[in-house]
Amino acid sequence: MEYKTASYEKLAGELEALRSEYEKIKAEKLSLNMSRGRPCTEQLDLTEGLLSVLYKNDMCNLSGNTDVRNYGVLSGIEDIKNIFAPILGAENGEVFVGGNSSLNLMYDLVADGMLYGYEGCTPWAKLPEVKFLCPVPGYDRHFAICEKLGIRMINVPMTKTGPDMDAVEKLVAEDELIKGIWCVPKYSNPQGITYSDETVARFADLSPAAKDFRIFWDNAYVIHDLDDTPDTLAPLLVMAKKTGKQNMVFEFTSTSKITYAGAGVSFLAASADNIKTVSSRIGIRTIGYDKVNQLRHALFFKTTENVYEHMKLHAAILRPKFDIVINTLEGELESTGTASWHRPHGGYFVSLDLMPGTAKRAWQLAKEAGVVLTTVGATYPYKLDPLDSNIRIAPSNTTCEELEKAMHVLCVCAKIAAAEKLTENK
Ligand code: PMP
Repeated sequence: MEYKTASYEKLAGELEALRSEYEKIKAEKLSLNMSRGRPCTEQLDLTEGLLSVLYKNDMCNLSGNTDVRNYGVLSGIEDIKNIFAPILGAENGEVFVGGNSSLNLMYDLVADGMLYGYEGCTPWAKLPEVKFLCPVPGYDRHFAICEKLGIRMINVPMTKTGPDMDAVEKLVAEDELIKGIWCVPKYSNPQGITYSDETVARFADLSPAAKDFRIFWDNAYVIHDLDDTPDTLAPLLVMAKKTGKQNMVFEFTSTSKITYAGAGVSFLAASADNIKTVSSRIGIRTIGYDKVNQLRHALFFKTTENVYEHMKLHAAILRPKFDIVINTLEGELESTGTASWHRPHGGYFVSLDLMPGTAKRAWQLAKEAGVVLTTVGATYPYKLDPLDSNIRIAPSNTTCEELEKAMHVLCVCAKIAAAEKLTENK
């Protein structure tokens, strides 16, 4: 039934039926969680051998001439750069290998901007105000970094091809206090959208008023394809070198969703100049990151090609879960005309836009029925979804059986919230 055009009587009848369905669901006392993008145990088990690979021969502590058990080689060992630099579209000299978390690198680089600035410009914290552009909906932990450091966030709408570039170009050109933008360019969190070639080309040739403006290109899902028709992302760093604006780019990724979440290896790809600046600052913070883990990863994968093969094993586990999400939305919500979503070809999320003004209510109903979803608003700066519409679905860490249940519950709750809204003033 198309809700918005249905008569009051029909909708009221529908609402009654939904409520009785909801009471039945509640009686089941479910406990299901679709709130965070965590790999499931089966995915973590794919990396069988990572923990023992170092014990296989006597020379296992060596990367070239580097004994990974000792201090030294701040920017990371060559063996791991050889494998991951091509994935990032960078040369080995343009890669800094970090610790267990790319988010940690992002935080550090924003904090460094606040403390020291970039390109010899005034440290951001000494300016009257610092602003970042935030394509919305987006990743809550990016927004949390800005909020914590007192950086004002400006929403920029996402389109099907990436952030609204007319808005981005205009804003950065007019305001010297805009020092950065957060981007998840491939299979964006939460929408699963990949930036088009034109969008990337416009980023590579951006002309911000701030000389020390930085694009925080969080390529967390760079090789996280789900199906046989994956999206492709143009290589920003390569393109920015052609426009001579390579210093604008900080690209990040990690193996959190390749090997172990929170116990993998993180990477920064940036111009050689930036790597020098960043290294000189990180070198104060730490004598070096965990090279033993870097070598463990290098020995486990051996080649870039093997990393891609490994990702196919993840896809085989994740694809049926994404199919359940999309099929349930299509089967239960499409005909109501109250919600929209994008079918992603990779990444970890499906972003569901409910009828404006109903997301919080649907979330609460789902919670009371035992289904936990990412908090409404989390996908927006300051946790404020101006339309009260967006819900992020993270299907990875549930079984297919649980997911089918949880998605049905979500759809029932979304329909109740919409039907309530449409009947409330009649
Ligand atoms: N960026 C994005 C877009 C993410 O979705 C995540 C993990 N959910 C991260 C960064 C965190 O990555 P890491 O574990 O490397 O800190």
